[in-house]
Amino acid sequence: MIKKRFEVSASHQLNLPYESKCNGLHGHNWLIDICVNCNELENNMVIDFNVLKEKVFLCLDHKHLNDIIPDPTVENIAYWVAEQIGFRQEGKRYWCSKVVIQESEGNVCEFTC
Ligand SMILES: [Zn+2]
Repeated sequence: MIKKRFEVSASHQLNLPYESKCNGLHGHNWLIDICVNCNELENNMVIDFNVLKEKVFLCLDHKHLNDIIPDPTVENIAYWVAEQIGFRQEGKRYWCSKVVIQESEGNVCEFTC
């Protein structure tokens, strides 16, 4: 298993059915930890860290997340990240096993695939 951490600065806006400051446009510096497993190494690596950077970091950093992820709650962001890497399935060499996102100090979402 490898783990890659990114810090993503981005904006988002939620659409909660109750009054919340999260419904206004605002930003976070999300700390995103991505765990990737494989069933065999390629070039003696689980996955090139640069692939994770391209599939996740470059897509999200300094973006407005609502343009990329519908209803970008931290839960939906974690699912989207896992989907970008791919889930475990037959014939797949590597897959995302876990995503942990800290949205702010003490607010963390952990998604085990
Ligand atoms: Zn927020």
